[in-house]
Amino acid sequence: MSDRPAKSHGRLSQSASLTPRELVSDRPRLATAWCAKVITLFPETFPGVLGASLTGKALQDGLWALETIDLRPFGTGKHRQVDDTPAGGGAGLVMKADVMGRALDMAVAGTPGRKDWPIVYLSPRGKPLQQADAGRFAAARGMTLVCGRFEGLDQRVIDHYRMEEVSIGDYVLTGGELAAQVLLDATVRLIPGVLGNAASTEEESFSDGLLEHPQYTKPAEWRGHAIPPVLLSGDHGAVATWRRAQAEALTQARRPDLWAKRADGDED
Ligand code: SAM
Repeated sequence: MSDRPAKSHGRLSQSASLTPRELVSDRPRLATAWCAKVITLFPETFPGVLGASLTGKALQDGLWALETIDLRPFGTGKHRQVDDTPAGGGAGLVMKADVMGRALDMAVAGTPGRKDWPIVYLSPRGKPLQQADAGRFAAARGMTLVCGRFEGLDQRVIDHYRMEEVSIGDYVLTGGELAAQVLLDATVRLIPGVLGNAASTEEESFSDGLLEHPQYTKPAEWRGHAIPPVLLSGDHGAVATWRRAQAEALTQARRPDLWAKRADGDED
């Protein structure tokens, strides 16, 4: 059995023994860094895309921290079994509650309550991830994410830890690792300082219930297609009005659900 199931990325560096409820820091933790703990059978898939560009730089700079917890060493028996056949029969395998419970006990030790430290199980059955959820997660002190595999997780462990089930869309992935990286990307970019230009999160899609207006850059003409003249007019008021109208038209055409929500909000 490995005695190092947890691996950290970025400046926060931790290793963990399998002693229940014990996390051992081998370097001081940055006191204020937002931290994601990810329980996965495939820790080598992290940081993945999160290691690139602005999220990767922020990880290196210690603006956030990432700790992967390898589920395999918590498995049972010689082969460190983590799954078993479904109760009631049927195809596939189910992740065992006792195994995930041991990993979660270690992950949650020393973390605050759910509001400040949500525990999320990535699941196609979950509530669809929204921009507002990313904002809520970013405002917490950190979070624990559980990546499923096979047919998913024994329901008892989901209930016992009062996990939030979150889906990244109406399709089925092979495992929760990509979903966790999607959720973390959406969340981490909202942590102050991660994006250079804070205003850019205020104006982008979903931030005020609208899709974003179209974007253009130089050259002014490309293959016979011109940038809309108003954007080159220097008239900031006219630009803002044009962008607003475009955002509204796009939202109405492409996302009638979002548009209807805005209309409901206006009535309140
Ligand atoms: N049997 C499950 C079902 O039908 O709902 C699907 C299990 S899926 C093959 C394995 C794991 O991938 C899930 O436990 C979950 O962690 C992850 N996963 C798959 N699709 C996802 C989605 N749309 N959003 C979030 N996680 C997803």
